[in-house]
Amino acid sequence: MAVAGNTPTASFLTKIGKMQSAGCRLCRITREARGESTDGLAAETHGHINSADCKGMATTFTAAHHSIWRHLYDSMHAAQKLKSKLKFVTLDKESNMSTLWQQEKFLRICSKEDLAKKAEDIEVTIPDKKSQEARYNLDPESFFVFRFWGRRPDGVAINEALQIGYFLVFNFVMGNRGSVVESNFYTKLKKLDVQEKDKLSADHVTQVCRAHNRVIVSFLLQVQGGTRPTTEGSRENIGHNVHV
Ligand SMILES: [Zn+2]
Repeated sequence: MAVAGNTPTASFLTKIGKMQSAGCRLCRITREARGESTDGLAAETHGHINSADCKGMATTFTAAHHSIWRHLYDSMHAAQKLKSKLKFVTLDKESNMSTLWQQEKFLRICSKEDLAKKAEDIEVTIPDKKSQEARYNLDPESFFVFRFWGRRPDGVAINEALQIGYFLVFNFVMGNRGSVVESNFYTKLKKLDVQEKDKLSADHVTQVCRAHNRVIVSFLLQVQGGTRPTTEGSRENIGHNVHV
């Protein structure tokens, strides 16, 4: 449905004349429950539902993201070539670029100053989010470097002998820009010295499809059931029939 573009979202249903408004139904329920205005609702598209932008889906979406990433990271680690000098680093919740660059093994790759300089060139090309506007206005000079040091990679692999680090960011998006574009995915796996790429890729696609299905089912149950959206919850039960 994601690829065919016919997920029964309000956006799609409005297009085919089955609904009056393309505004997100779950965001509406969430806002109404909080007594907030329902003006200017985001369009209920496949992309919106499958993102943390949808207020009622944030918990479900984040849990799905973590679940797929955990599976992929463990699979890549397990399928590494025996001779590989690349080590997967275990990250804790506090790990961001700043805390990583306090460690000797990262400082040996390059100095903090050199990294900040290079990172700034890239960061200025990435637009700031609405929520970051105040921070930008406060100090536009240091905003981009500050934002870079606060970035939290999903995973890190490091080759200490060659002084190379790979910082892995997993975006849970389906379709052409997603994590399952084969050639791109294979190139990255190769860089990480991962073997059995076909099996790993097939497993990953299965995981992504299952997770998308869980997300969509959770969404539809919440908007059609008229129950309160899941904005809080544990990892084990993240919504109606959604267990991760
Ligand atoms: Zn929404």
